[in-house]
Amino acid sequence: MELDVNLKPMKISGLERTKNYRLELFNNGHSAQVNVDGDVYVEGGGLPNRFQTAQFHFHWGRDDNTGSEHLYSGGSFPLELHVVNYNVKYGNSSNAMTKVGDGLAVLGFWFERSDSDNPVLTPLIKKLSSVQNADPSTKVPVSDLDLGKVISGNLDRFYRYSGSLTTPPCYESVIWSVFQTKIPISSSQLTAFRRLKKVPHGGKTTALVDNYRPPKTINGRKISISFPSGVATVSARPANWAANVNSQCGGSSQSPIDIPALSSTTYDSSLGLFTLSSFGDTSAYSLDLSNNGHTVTATVSTSGGSNLDVTGGGLPATYRAAQFHFHWGASASVGSEHTKQGTSYPAELHIVCWNTNMDNLSYALTQPEGLAVLGFFMEVHDTYTLSTFDIQSLVPPDISKYYRYPGSLTTPGCDESVIWTVFQSTITVSTAQMNKFRGMKSDTGGSTPLVNNYRPVQSLGSRIVKQNFSGQSVNHASIILTLVCAAVYQYIIR
Ligand SMILES: [Zn+2]
Ligand SMILES: [Zn+2]
Repeated sequence: MELDVNLKPMKISGLERTKNYRLELFNNGHSAQVNVDGDVYVEGGGLPNRFQTAQFHFHWGRDDNTGSEHLYSGGSFPLELHVVNYNVKYGNSSNAMTKVGDGLAVLGFWFERSDSDNPVLTPLIKKLSSVQNADPSTKVPVSDLDLGKVISGNLDRFYRYSGSLTTPPCYESVIWSVFQTKIPISSSQLTAFRRLKKVPHGGKTTALVDNYRPPKTINGRKISISFPSGVATVSARPANWAANVNSQCGGSSQSPIDIPALSSTTYDSSLGLFTLSSFGDTSAYSLDLSNNGHTVTATVSTSGGSNLDVTGGGLPATYRAAQFHFHWGASASVGSEHTKQGTSYPAELHIVCWNTNMDNLSYALTQPEGLAVLGFFMEVHDTYTLSTFDIQSLVPPDISKYYRYPGSLTTPGCDESVIWTVFQSTITVSTAQMNKFRGMKSDTGGSTPLVNNYRPVQSLGSRIVKQNFSGQSVNHASIILTLVCAAVYQYIIR
């Protein structure tokens, strides 16, 4: 996707005066459509002309996992609103819709599930029951719906591409703008859409759901964005991933987690030592570094039959290293995905390995125990310099002590396929090296720093964190406290 600075904010005029237009709702058997009769115009946003608003309608699914016509990174939304506008130079919408390239401008808005009703939708939701049966001649006024408020505040961040109508005759006459900010809608409001019927009154009951067209291939078409992309677009609100991107992100075994004190973890003597094969043999593999806007990833390619295999460590199979990547913060106080007793580290390394009993990485990452990710906290010490020549020297010399728990990918789809290992020993890097990470950019324009690319910790739930070492772990804070107490005590008894 390319940032296009010519995509200025969209301007919609006329909506602010609800008296100036009439809205009529009807059920056409395919959607709930609202005709807009009045002087409402859309311009700006890189559109070639002024467009007049003709109607808006919705697409929705049978449940919250489907519904939207446009997907984001493969994820659906439960509802999508299309505001259809025609180029005024073509006079009316039926004429304009046949004009390839610039006939229509459709504004798409995704909805995300919210806990409470969105009050600005209430006037529309209340009228849906009056058009429950498919009958284009039953038109119901929705005079108190304020479309401007429904879509307010969303108009400066959108995706742009040239496309078609999503229903036959599918004329390629549409300039699409799909807005980034989602509109909240509650479960019960979504249910009101799902109660509509595809058939006229008296017909066999057929629920009007899943009225979306599956996504079409992009075929080299350019998608432009009006705002810098990267972490800011996907990761800014991981709390909403479950509703927005993939429902798996709301599962009960999600990662990362906070690793609790040893009193709350379980010692498991069966968790043996790891063997990392070929990790230090730089002739066996090469690393391709890439910045995908979310992280820096080093992809492992091997040659000559040797593989970077991980065995032992209580893993149920041999796992093969496919890539490693990092998570880091804008400052040293945040950055790691896992935390330890509530404390973040400035960065965290993840070595992603897949179960060699499965066909390949992409299959394994959707399967239980498909992946084993080795996680290492990174600490800043100015006297240390991180070696990046090979993965062996990247990981700490002592990998004998670790924590183990079942978890997930920390980015959508959040598949719960990961056996997580978080090591006790940390990797040390210098401040200068950390600043190299913080200087990376998350967009092609190079203006947005790529920082804070971590997902917040998820609830441990009923899962147990195991550790493979026994004995007391004394943290530095308690040592210092002991020393302070000793000093104070010494002072008092003198
Ligand atoms: Zn549509
Ligand atoms: Zn990661």
